[in-house]
Amino acid sequence: MEKTIIHDPGEIRRLSASARRHGESIGLVTTMGALHEGHLSLVRRATDENDTVVVSIFVNPMQFDDQNDLAAYPKTLSADADAAFSAGANIVFAPSVEHIYPDGFSTFVDMTGPSERLCGSSRPSHFKGVLTVVAKLFGICAPDRAYFGEKDAQQLAIVKKMADELSIPVEVVGCPTIREADGLAMSSRNARLSADERAAALCLYKSLAETRTLFDAGEKDARKLTAHLADGIEATPLARLDYATIVDPLTFEPPIGRPARPGDLLMLAAYIGDVRLIDNMKLQAPLILASASPRRTEILAAHGHKHVVIPADADETIADDSPLTPAEVTIYLAELKADTVLGNLDPKDWPDGCRVLGVDTIVYKDRIIGKPVDEADALSILRSLKNGVHEVISGACLIHAVPDNGQAGGGDDEAGGRFRVTERHSFADITTIRLGDYTDEEILAYVRANPPYDKSGSYAIQSEWGRHVLELCGDIENVIGLPYQRLSTYL
Ligand code: AMP
Repeated sequence: MEKTIIHDPGEIRRLSASARRHGESIGLVTTMGALHEGHLSLVRRATDENDTVVVSIFVNPMQFDDQNDLAAYPKTLSADADAAFSAGANIVFAPSVEHIYPDGFSTFVDMTGPSERLCGSSRPSHFKGVLTVVAKLFGICAPDRAYFGEKDAQQLAIVKKMADELSIPVEVVGCPTIREADGLAMSSRNARLSADERAAALCLYKSLAETRTLFDAGEKDARKLTAHLADGIEATPLARLDYATIVDPLTFEPPIGRPARPGDLLMLAAYIGDVRLIDNMKLQAPLILASASPRRTEILAAHGHKHVVIPADADETIADDSPLTPAEVTIYLAELKADTVLGNLDPKDWPDGCRVLGVDTIVYKDRIIGKPVDEADALSILRSLKNGVHEVISGACLIHAVPDNGQAGGGDDEAGGRFRVTERHSFADITTIRLGDYTDEEILAYVRANPPYDKSGSYAIQSEWGRHVLELCGDIENVIGLPYQRLSTYL
């Protein structure tokens, strides 16, 4: 479909109906424009999962309680459309206020319960505006799937609840928060911060991350965690706290009479100067990496994922005549590792549950290339990869499990009946690499200086051998051994 900007809702409705008649699925990303990498991550995900992707750009006056905030909201339609199209969108839907709220408009969607707390209490009628416009956009675009950021966790939860309770046939998909390199959550409002305010704004991320670290270290007292969360904002001169709290992810009620637990959300809103920013983080069960690879540990740590390492002691033999594709082999081995480690855990040691991550990486060129057994093998492998394209395939299996104390109506056999699996995600990610030319002497010098016996393919892309990479298509961390881009959705 040709990439177009459409203003008229009637035209979108016709296009959407025609796509549906052709059996095409439709993904919708709703935005208020001033698009950044956070929005574009939603567009890319929608593009991966749907035939046609509509990005709506509409600064919705109904959800602003502060007219100055509305007037100051950045408006950059032409650059936004270019960015949305480059990320894979087919249609940018940019209606006018009159298109969405014609004269005499008097129907609203409102919700009690979770929408009344936090942002709903600080900004009365904000969520009524959000739900009304989202319901309209669902009606106009009739998407199969709609993508919302976890950065706005309360919005995501209430949009899911609205779609469910009003029986709107759309799957509401949550996508991880995209952050600047220092951790600040991307937001269109960040552009309004002065240099000093930008530095101060980091207090939201820092306070969330520190509080999560406290939880990971064993502090489960919700009042203490909340106080710590608030302190990080109150100690920052340019920041003024709106709210700091821990909530249940469905009701958005704070934990009363119970400790904080995995799944709860740390929620923050603060004014930096006169710009209001929000951010949140989920408390997680401990993460167990079922692999001894120091490189996987480094990648997880670099992304802020504290974890323990329990290597799997599993038989990784794959029969030569196995019917599995290379990607299926990596998934099989990743699952084997995760299941083996989970099966050996004692639930008493993990009373809050755990997440177990198994990963397997192979190199593929005409055949599966494993780790070299000796120098001659490394020489022959690196010769075979020269001047050509090969694939690096990492399979991952992430299992979320909680102790099965018998109240949950039976366990999952794969977990030995002692843990109940609450989530299980298995996938493989493929990165394609083209290597250039090199001599046998260069190979021998490299393998002697960098023993490659723990690396499929005999080289490390992050080592000096990286200079032979002429082209790389995909996630570079996948090559190093962890398909983090895709994994981050499930962690
Ligand atoms: P907005 O334009 O602020 O209304 O945001 C449009 C959509 O993008 C919402 O679903 C937001 O949750 C999502 N979004 C905004 N910032 C981010 C971010 N940093 N990471 C992921 N999603 C985001």
